[in-house]
Order: sequence, then C-alpha cells, then structure tokens
Amino acid sequence: MRIEERIDKYRFLRQVAWNYKLDSFTDSALVEILKAVRQAKRETLNKLRNRLAAGKKSDWTTNRLLSLTEEFRGMTKALEAQLDKDFDTIGQIVGSRSLEEYNDIFSIDQSIPIFNNVRLSPEQLKAMTEVSLEGMLVKDILGIGFDYHLVDLMKRDIQAGLLEGASYRKMVNSFSDKFGGLQETVISLVRTQVQGVNNAAFKEVALANQDILQSEWEWCAILDNRACIQCMCLDGRRFAWNDPIAIPAHIRCRCIRRSLTKPWKEITGGKIDIPEFEPALRTWVERDGQVGVGGAKVKAFGKIKGNYEDFFNRLSYERKVALVGPTRAKLLKEGKIRFKDMIDSRGRVRLLRKDRKGLLK
Ligand SMILES: [Zn+2]
Repeated sequence: MRIEERIDKYRFLRQVAWNYKLDSFTDSALVEILKAVRQAKRETLNKLRNRLAAGKKSDWTTNRLLSLTEEFRGMTKALEAQLDKDFDTIGQIVGSRSLEEYNDIFSIDQSIPIFNNVRLSPEQLKAMTEVSLEGMLVKDILGIGFDYHLVDLMKRDIQAGLLEGASYRKMVNSFSDKFGGLQETVISLVRTQVQGVNNAAFKEVALANQDILQSEWEWCAILDNRACIQCMCLDGRRFAWNDPIAIPAHIRCRCIRRSLTKPWKEITGGKIDIPEFEPALRTWVERDGQVGVGGAKVKAFGKIKGNYEDFFNRLSYERKVALVGPTRAKLLKEGKIRFKDMIDSRGRVRLLRKDRKGLLK
C-alpha cells in the first residue's frame, strides 16, 4: 500500500471512531432533551384537561376546538425556546470538540510540520454550527415541526370532524398523539444537527489545509440497509472542496466526507514515515425489524472492500427491493440501469418513467 493510502485509511478509521463517540454523546443529550419534552407534554396536557373540563361536550364546536389548538401551541412556546437553546449548546460542544479531533486526525497527532491547526473565534464557531438543509436552518425546521404536529395535524383532525362532540379523554389523547410525532421529529433533528456540525468542522480543518489534501473529497455513506437511494448512490462520488453540495443531504442523513491525501513526499519531503498496518476494510451491517424508528436488530455484519454498490450487490433480492423498490431492483437485475443511474450529478434521485421501463433523465 502506498503511504498516501495508508494515511487515508488511518484518518478514515479515526474519523469513524470519532463518529461513534459522537453517537454516544448524542444519545446522552437526547435523554435530557426527551425528559424536557415529556415534562412539557405532561404540563400542557394537564392544562388542556382543565380547559376541557371547564366546558360541556356540546361547547366544543369546530371553532372552539380550533382556537383551543392555538392555545395549545402557545403553551409549547417555552419548550420550543428551550430546545432552541439546547440546539445551540449541542452545536457549540460538538463543534469545538470536533475541531480539536480533526486537527489531530488531519495532522496525524501534530506530526505534519506544515499543518494549520484551526482555532475559531466564538462568532466563527457559532456560524459553523448553523447547519442548514436545502437552505433552511435545522433550528428553523424545528419550529416548522412544532407547527406541523401541534397545529396542522390537530386542525386536520378537527376539520375532519373527528373531535366534535368527542369525549374529553379522546380529545386529550389526540393532543397527546401529536406530541408523540413531535418527539420523533426532535430526535431526528438533534441527530441531523450533530452530524451537520461534525461534517462542518471536518470541512473547516480541510479547507485550512488544502496544501496537504487532494482537491476533491469522497462521499461516504454508512454501509447498512437503512441508507436511502440518494446516499447509497452518492457513496464513492467525488466533489471539489468548494462545491456547495450539502452533507448531511437530508434529515437523519449519516454520511461523512472522506479526505484524500496529496503525495506524501510532496508534504514532508519523505521525512516522516507512517507505520504499515492492515488495509482497513469498511464495516457493513444488515438489520432486521422496522428500519428508521429504532429497535432494528443487527442480523449480520462483516467487512468489505469497495463502496455501497458492492455491499448492495451481496444483499438478497428481497433486501434490494426493500431498499430501492421493486421497479429499480428489477431494472438493476436485468442490467437495464446501473447503480449510478439512480441519481443525477447533484445527488437528486431520478424518478421512474410512467411506463416503468426506465428512469427519467
Ligand atoms: Zn446520507
């Protein structure tokens, strides 16, 4: 193995190890956050119960229920403000710790003399933690999540006449269910925020050290059967460092960038050696159970050389269908499309033609 390849593999292994650490940090942050969500849920539902108890069943007309929904939303403003602060705190912690980690990873524990350690001012750090998806800050998406679950969905039930003349218990349960949906959104957004800040820190350090890196980075998805079509096809593609393509690509995207080192001689004049180690293969995992909602059990795992497509090719046909749908799976099997044909050059998933014979351009 060339020394550059050894360095890339070494860096990548440390990057993966750092991602595992961040996962456990996220899990413990979520324990606290969900405590606050449940607490707010209890308090809000108690207030609602009192409001409902103050009226007769027949009082709760569509209009009165709609204004009750507005009140309900008002009662959750304190929780929203608290979560907003929590997102900032998480961003600061993940941002500053990730920068330290990537300074060490890229410099191989400060053994590259020409390495630029990145230190950010509080303002720069804050800017780095403002993760956005499709032009919208993750924090703003949180506000939209509150409105969607606690107002839009509630109003939809009311307007469908599901709650008019309903029992008190049924009304409280309906509000309670919507809070459950909000909780799932909060979990997804916290994970996305952490991954976004983590990837942003990686990019900061890489941008400050372009003289030791190749001009392109490589998209790296997680090799398991929870990846989406977009990310499985992006896996292995290369982008220029100044390309604005967003990674994470979507809510709950777990993808990372992988850097590529310039010829080592060029960087160090051949002075520093890196010990030989076993070529690092990528770990893959197959899970059973409902994917995406937690509780999926690991069925099998192993190591593989190559990218997501190589992992995909060793899955059963049934698994392939679960990942890309029956039509794409069939087209792939028949050799009518190739893996890379499922997305365009910007990572957008290409739609299936109506006649189901192929993909739209
Ligand atoms: Zn992804």
